Amino acid sequence: MAVGIVINRLVLVVAYFAGAAVVSSWLDDVPPEIASKLDSGSNATARFATDYGGVTRAANPAAVFHPSTADDIAALLRFAYCAESPFPVAARGNGHSVRGQALAPGGVAIDMAALGGGRRRINVSSAGMYVDAGGEQLWIDVLEAALRQGLSPQSWTDYLYLTVGGTLSNAGISGQAFRHGPQISNVYELDVVTGKGEMITCSSQSDRDLFYGVLGGLGQLGVITRARIALRPAPARVRWLRLFYTDLGDLTRDQEFLISLPETTGFDYVEGQVLLSHQRVGNSTFYSKQDVDSINRLKGELNIIYFLEGALYYDSPSIADQKIEDLLKQLNFVPGFVFSNDVTYLEFLNRVHNEIQKLNSTDDDDSSSTAPLHPWLNLFLPKSGVRDFQLGILENINLTGLILLYPLNKNRWNDIMTATVPNEEVFYTVGFLWTATVEDWGTFDALNNEILGFCDQHGIEVKQYLPHYTSKLDWAWHFGSDKWEKFVQLKRRYDPKALLSPGQQIFN
Ligand code: FAD
Repeated sequence: MAVGIVINRLVLVVAYFAGAAVVSSWLDDVPPEIASKLDSGSNATARFATDYGGVTRAANPAAVFHPSTADDIAALLRFAYCAESPFPVAARGNGHSVRGQALAPGGVAIDMAALGGGRRRINVSSAGMYVDAGGEQLWIDVLEAALRQGLSPQSWTDYLYLTVGGTLSNAGISGQAFRHGPQISNVYELDVVTGKGEMITCSSQSDRDLFYGVLGGLGQLGVITRARIALRPAPARVRWLRLFYTDLGDLTRDQEFLISLPETTGFDYVEGQVLLSHQRVGNSTFYSKQDVDSINRLKGELNIIYFLEGALYYDSPSIADQKIEDLLKQLNFVPGFVFSNDVTYLEFLNRVHNEIQKLNSTDDDDSSSTAPLHPWLNLFLPKSGVRDFQLGILENINLTGLILLYPLNKNRWNDIMTATVPNEEVFYTVGFLWTATVEDWGTFDALNNEILGFCDQHGIEVKQYLPHYTSKLDWAWHFGSDKWEKFVQLKRRYDPKALLSPGQQIFN
């Protein structure tokens, strides 16, 4: 049972950062080769005191480190490890965490984007069918480099402006993961700098404990400076569909059917979304004006409706047409409520960014200069809990926001990795992607706590994805006793002074 999850998070956030000792006397002792890459000016450090979520306001790091090479990171970590007062160090990818996971109050934030001095560190091997990508590289750049050779990684996140090291430290999931597993299941090899400053190349064959430990390891065992990622031939185009449902049972039955199909007959991507009682389909590049009107008519007075999002990759239009026709015949969406787009593979994978850009460029009303806050909650929900979840949570939410809901197959996850998922063959990703303001984010946070509390009370063994806990007890519960014990042992071995990624609040 999760302990302490229903405690006011604001209190926890404040407590954590009030307790973070800001010891920066070590700055005076830093050797010149490291000092030349440290910036302790407040302009630099203030940028690294919050993240995309915006709800965690930490003390600034004492300095930001701009490494040119992986050796620089190793030198910094050796120094931190041997210092009289060892100091915390956090790799910062693109800072797209939402709960302060990449922050290092009072310590050093590594500006991973500095690696390579602005040069792309991405090498595609078409002979080996892999790409070697720096841990700091954005997935969009990895994709574009691979596409130049007609290749592509096969497992993605919905949004591609995230770093390789950042998503591999979590899992990296999207609508392809039901078939190919999360991004962490598609890695051949890693270069890692440990918390002692050792540089280790690891894989399933060599230093395998470290390799599997780092995948989903929340930045606790080392800094990923290179990942070798599996590639496959890239398709040319994508048929991208949305099918509407008024009944959750119909939606989930169809989703589960689709994720059971082999590649030859099924979709290549399956996701889904919930439209809550107050929501209407609005301006979007996906739908025509007429589509929007008819979906909103369907919604009418209904409390909730849902859509299944599927995508089929193709090179031959006639084969794609036939496959889709066969698939649609087997699904139970509301007759007539199927909408489709035909886009390039790049446009499809980059859809979230494209959508944001297009909406921004046509949005005249947005005069607000305050960045919104994102108190998100992402859960892995066991299939057996979906019905209770619907009745107890979805049908009782009074707030609006984007809610993702789609199933994954557990057999595509390797349990030897640190990433943790529920113990059922099929589990659902549920993402509550709230957008809030400084004034109202607490309301969303309270709802998140209510959701976790409901699952707890009803014995629904959800696992948080991109987890946020603040006590060792909760972390131990999150991982489960075997995995937790192993993680603790790995931490002792690779980061014995608990310097790395303190913002996760696991070992410090
Ligand atoms: P950061 O936030 O900078 O870091 C995350 C953690 O990893 C920190 O603890 C940090 O210290 C550590 N870290 C960073 N780089 C390294 C490294 N090289 N080596 C070791 N540790 C490191 N996730 C999904 O799975 N699927 C999605 O579809 C998805 N969509 C998203 C869309 C948006 C708009 C946002 C904001 C987030 C989304 N995420 C998604 C979550 C995202 O994967 C995580 O927040 C991820 O951590 C962000 O990557 P980042 O590069 O910004 O990492």
